[in-house]
Amino acid sequence: MKDYKIAVIPGDGIGVDITREALKVMNKVAEKYSVKLNFTEVKAGGVAIDACQNPLPQETLDICKASDAVLLGAVGGPKWDNLEGSKRPEKALLGLRGGLGLYANLRPAKVYDVLKTASPLKNEIIDEGVDLLVVRELTGGIYFGDRGRCEDNGIAAAYDTERYNVEEIKKIAHVAFKSAMKRRKKVTSVDKANILESSRLWRSVVEKVAKEYPEVELNHLYVDNTAMQLVRKPSQFDVILTSNMFGDILSDEASMITGSIGMLASSSVREDSFGMYEPIHGSAPDIAGKDLANPLAQILSAAMLFEYSLDMSEAARDIENAVQRVLDKGFRTGDIYTEGTKKVGTKEMGKLVLDEL
Ligand code: NAD
Repeated sequence: MKDYKIAVIPGDGIGVDITREALKVMNKVAEKYSVKLNFTEVKAGGVAIDACQNPLPQETLDICKASDAVLLGAVGGPKWDNLEGSKRPEKALLGLRGGLGLYANLRPAKVYDVLKTASPLKNEIIDEGVDLLVVRELTGGIYFGDRGRCEDNGIAAAYDTERYNVEEIKKIAHVAFKSAMKRRKKVTSVDKANILESSRLWRSVVEKVAKEYPEVELNHLYVDNTAMQLVRKPSQFDVILTSNMFGDILSDEASMITGSIGMLASSSVREDSFGMYEPIHGSAPDIAGKDLANPLAQILSAAMLFEYSLDMSEAARDIENAVQRVLDKGFRTGDIYTEGTKKVGTKEMGKLVLDEL
C-alpha cells in the first residue's frame, strides 16, 4: 500500500472548521483507493504566535519539508492585527512559500453552471463561460524586494522594490505554458511594460520561453487593461501569467467573478510533485467556529493535492464530481445560498460530500 506524509496546518478562524471537513474527505478517498495518508498537524499563524511567539515555528517548517504535501487552512485574525509586520500571522505564509521553495501559485477560477447567479456580472457575460487559471509568481518581485523607511528632504518616506531576474521569470513562464498545454493552449502574460523596466525584462523572457511551446498562443496585456478585460469579457482568458503583486490582485478579481471565494481552491508548487494546497479565502473571523463556513474550497484544495502531489487524478475527479452532485442537489452554505436552495452548515456540507463519494 502506498504511504504518504501530509502536513496539515488548520491555522486560525475558519481554517480549523473547513480543514476538519477536508480531512474526512481525504480519509475516505484514501480508503477507497487503498493508500495510506499519515497526517501530522502543525501550527502556523496566530495560533502559533499564541503558543510560541512565532507565526512559523521551525518545527512546522521542518515537518512540512519532510512531507509529500501540505494542506493549509487560513491564518490571521483581529487578535493579532496590531503586531509589528514580521510578527504577524501572514508572515507564516511568506515563510512557508519561501522556505518550501514554492515559486508558482495556481489559482483556477471557474463558474459552476448552478452557481451562475452568484456572479456579480451580467448573465450575458457569464454565459460565455469563465474557466481560467491565474499563474502567479510567488517568491520574487516587490513582496520580497528591498524595502525600508527613509526621508525625502526631512519628510518621512518608505519604499519597496520590484525586482526579477531572468531565471525567476523563466521558471514561472514554463509553469504557465505547461499548464496551458493541458488546457485551451492560450497564455496571456500580464505586465506594465509601458512603465516598468522589470516588466520589459519579463516580457522579453516570456517571449523566449514561448518559442518552446509553439502550440500555445501568447498575448501580452498591461495589468490595468487586464483588470478591465476580466470584468468585460472573462471568457477570453485561459492562462494568465503574471508577477507576484499583479497576480495577488488579479486572482482576487478573477475569484470575485465566480461569485464565491468559499468555492475556490489554490495550489503553490515547485518543480517536483511537492505542493501546498489551500483555499483562496482568509480565516473569516466573523464566522469562525459558527458552523457557517463553506468547506468546499478546502475540499477542492484536497482534490488538487491528490491530483498534483499524489498523482491520483481519478481520486481528484471523484471529489470534484461529489462536490458537483451536492451542488446539483441544491445544497448551499450561507455564502452561496439563493432562494429555493437548501441551506446547510459547514459540517452538513462536509457530510453531504462524504456521502457522495
Ligand atoms: P476573508 O477571506 O477571511 O473573508 C472575507 C469575507 O468572505 C468575510 O465576510 C467572510 O466571512 C467571507 N468568507 C471567506 N471565506 C468563506 C467561506 N469559506 N465560507 C463563507 N464565507 C467566507 O478575508 P478578510 O476578512 O479580508 O481577512 C480575514 C483574516 O484572514 C485577516 O486576518 C487576513 O489577513 C487573513 N487572510 C488570510 C489568508 C490566508 O491565510 N491565505 C488570505 C486572506 C486573508
